Amino acid sequence: MKSHHHRILVIGGGTAGITVAARLLRKGHADVAVIEPSSVHYYQPLWTLVGAGQADAADTERAEASVMPHDATWIRNAAAAVDPDTNTVTCEDGATYTYDALVVCPGIQLDWDRIDGAADALGRDGVSSNYQFDLAPRTWEFIRNLRSGTAVFTMPSGPIKCAGAPQKIAYLACDHWRRAGVLDDIDVHLVVPTPRIFGIPAIADNLDKVIAEYGITLHTLTEVTSVDAASRKVTLQAVAEGGEDGTLGYDLLHVVPHQSAPDWIKNSPLSTGQAGGYVDIDKHTMQHVRYPNVFALGDAGSSPNSKTGAAIRKQAPVVVDNVDAYLGGRTLCARYDGYASCPIVTSSHEMLLAEFDYEFNLKPSVPLLDPTKPHRAYWYLKKYGLPAMYWNLMLKGLA
Ligand SMILES: Cc1cc2nc3c(=O)[nH]c(=O)nc-3n(C[C@H](O)[C@H](O)[C@H](O)COP(=O)(O)OP(=O)(O)OC[C@H]3O[C@@H](n4cnc5c(N)ncnc54)[C@H](O)[C@@H]3O)c2cc1C
Repeated sequence: MKSHHHRILVIGGGTAGITVAARLLRKGHADVAVIEPSSVHYYQPLWTLVGAGQADAADTERAEASVMPHDATWIRNAAAAVDPDTNTVTCEDGATYTYDALVVCPGIQLDWDRIDGAADALGRDGVSSNYQFDLAPRTWEFIRNLRSGTAVFTMPSGPIKCAGAPQKIAYLACDHWRRAGVLDDIDVHLVVPTPRIFGIPAIADNLDKVIAEYGITLHTLTEVTSVDAASRKVTLQAVAEGGEDGTLGYDLLHVVPHQSAPDWIKNSPLSTGQAGGYVDIDKHTMQHVRYPNVFALGDAGSSPNSKTGAAIRKQAPVVVDNVDAYLGGRTLCARYDGYASCPIVTSSHEMLLAEFDYEFNLKPSVPLLDPTKPHRAYWYLKKYGLPAMYWNLMLKGLA
């Protein structure tokens, strides 16, 4: 089979891949190819609101063709292997592509098999997850139909995309049950592997108040290791001293899977070779630590930021500037500071917008609002402002 060559090859046409491709083309690079197998592009941040009955699943998907930049070459294929020594990507059908510079961003893998019984339980008898497009509407169905009993919301250990999503759906569910007058009849549990509900103390203090107001029982330093759908029970395991071992019964279970780099990345020379197996990049330049013509961003990269689309918005210009510098034989000057934002919806009308960098310094974009507290204005930003910015500006390389 003949191999095709591209000046810049991008693996993945999701949030990161489309944003980077659009920006590279705007910068004047003429030969940009994107390897992307899916015919659909998703705006995943809205899946939380879909799960809470506040947005339609259909509004979160668009044809991949409609977001792919006109001047990019779309390779409708899935990458299966990378040989960075010969600058070659091999796709699932055996086709090979060579490159001068490679940008790796195929997203993150949902490792459902790391929670025994979870995969089989999904989508029925009260078990759902907003982490899948097809399941987010089921979450809302189960929330809407619950009038009494026990609801369990879980978060796994290790990096996941949007670490706030496991708790946001708990708050939105409680808000719905309170408005429906049934919250007092539902015993709500939130199981997280972290010592506190959030890594920044001032924000954790305010989220503790939200948790107390809803009457949620918070289990810290603990994760769910198995789901027994037949007896509707989950097994809890301490991840550190102070955590809990035991079981919890449930009538509704929102479960979030462990996550890691796609297996083919883990098995490639690009991987860190450590837990998660992400693409081994410098956390400031986004350049691979061993292969200077390889860059990565988004959920598949090893940079220790919170894995969000908001982080990608700041990473993409850095990757583009540094790819440009690399190809032009110049020093790489652009640096990413770890910025990420975590929009934590606390009710059907309020949201806390946590924005921070690698050192957990707060980086608020809106100067007048206290960044550690929920505000009404932010909820409108989440529901209307951010999706519009995503489709109309970010994916076009304009924001
Ligand atoms: C429930 C939920 C809520 C979230 N909430 C927020 C939020 O409020 N704010 C926020 O900023 N972020 C949020 N996120 C996170 C955000 O959606 C992700 O961080 C972001 O989409 C990651 O972009 P990416 O390009 O790395 O991966 P993706 O956008 O997932 O794209 C990866 C792309 O790679 C393609 N691909 C996969 N395998 C291959 C292969 N072998 N070869 C080629 N292409 C491949 C896929 O088809 C896909 O198009 C949320 C995510 C979820 C699930």
